[in-house]
Amino acid sequence: MPCSATATQLAALASRGPRYTSYPPATAFAAVDADSVARELARVAERREAISLYLHIPFCRSLCWYCGCNVIPTRDAQRGTQYVDQLIAEADLVGRAVHGAPVTEISLGGGSPNFLSTASLRQLFAALERSFTISPDARRSIELDPRTTLSEQIDALAAAQFGSLSMGVQDFSDAVQDAIHRHQSVLQTRWLVDRARAAGFDDINIDIVYGLPLQTEASFVKTLDAVIDLAPDRIALFGYAHLPSKLPHQLLVERAGRVLDGRERAALLLLGIDRLTAAGYLHLGLDHFAKPGSRLARAAEAHRMTRSFQGYTEHRADAIIGLGVSAISSTPRMHWQSHAELPQWEEAVAAGSLPIARGIELDSDDQVRRAVIGCLMCDSEVDLQRIGAEHHVDGPSYFETELAAIQGLGDLVHYEARTATLRATDLGRLLIRNVCMLFDRYSGDASHGGTPRFSPTI
Ligand code: SF4
Repeated sequence: MPCSATATQLAALASRGPRYTSYPPATAFAAVDADSVARELARVAERREAISLYLHIPFCRSLCWYCGCNVIPTRDAQRGTQYVDQLIAEADLVGRAVHGAPVTEISLGGGSPNFLSTASLRQLFAALERSFTISPDARRSIELDPRTTLSEQIDALAAAQFGSLSMGVQDFSDAVQDAIHRHQSVLQTRWLVDRARAAGFDDINIDIVYGLPLQTEASFVKTLDAVIDLAPDRIALFGYAHLPSKLPHQLLVERAGRVLDGRERAALLLLGIDRLTAAGYLHLGLDHFAKPGSRLARAAEAHRMTRSFQGYTEHRADAIIGLGVSAISSTPRMHWQSHAELPQWEEAVAAGSLPIARGIELDSDDQVRRAVIGCLMCDSEVDLQRIGAEHHVDGPSYFETELAAIQGLGDLVHYEARTATLRATDLGRLLIRNVCMLFDRYSGDASHGGTPRFSPTI
């Protein structure tokens, strides 16, 4: 259903806040010792909890100026070979710690996982089979860069049973591509879509970004139509997070033109929603679109869609174990992140230690808030009675203060006391991060020393 919200309304109500790919958000992580993580991994093993493995490959051949990922730009292929050796050592270490727990999902992200040679990819997959107990029906997904992926890499991935593929497009306009230093043609993108489909991939996602310099409504429509024409199973429509104080390379983006303001961003977002839903895609969660009958659409229908560090995915495991530099891990009881600097991560792995930099252990309050925020992010509504019962509290009274504060959000959300259900309006769904902030006990400080910590909620 096309959203009737206007760009002006959205821009006026937007603020800055976490993306809620985890709760508590990564900004709340603090010092955590490796022994606590080792104990948590032992708990996962003891309970035979299903594991989703995430492997972070940080390298890219060139830096896109808008990039917000933990990325190392280099053309030295040798660095990928060395990194895989260390990643295998870390997999061995962690695999022993969670011995026996089934791995139901493997995902490679980055950076660009296809920076690794075909031989390195094969070596890595063989090592994972040795180190972990991988379920026969484990789902395997990977991010690939259409500009640099080789045909032989796709064959190797298909042979290793990869079925899901995500690729960035962002924008097809030449002017915008110049501004963000990322040049990628429709032809290159189509080649990867077609080649992957022919090899057996049955779930293809394309990312689009709104809010980039020089984007206009007319140019954005062309990008949307070109992506629709590629017919991916899923499309993610993200807002550009311009945070040059945290990511100084983003200052380069400003050389080409003004970063769009809230009103312009909102107009592009609404345009995207209208165009994608008119083309038959279902709007899922905050910013994902899926073809009816696709894997993600079926998961959403069955309430098996979840929000994680990789955005919206099918829920296949409660424990996410991240391997590689800067990778984040998450269980229902704890989140932790590996060292974000390569030398520190390498040093810890070489010493046979878990390369932990920071994290947080979730107390019972974090756990119930995490459940509420997870429902809001995935379903735009939450049954406080049910969530409360699952966490041994009376939901409506536990969140009395938050429920009283919803008046301050105006027309974003309604609470039905009879069913104890909080439901976002059409407008509130697009600003669901603002609604979640009400339940977030860490979100009070949206800036740090006057510098914004979070991206705009539109
Ligand atoms: S390809 Fe992706 S990860 Fe690499 S620099 Fe560009 S945006 Fe960042």
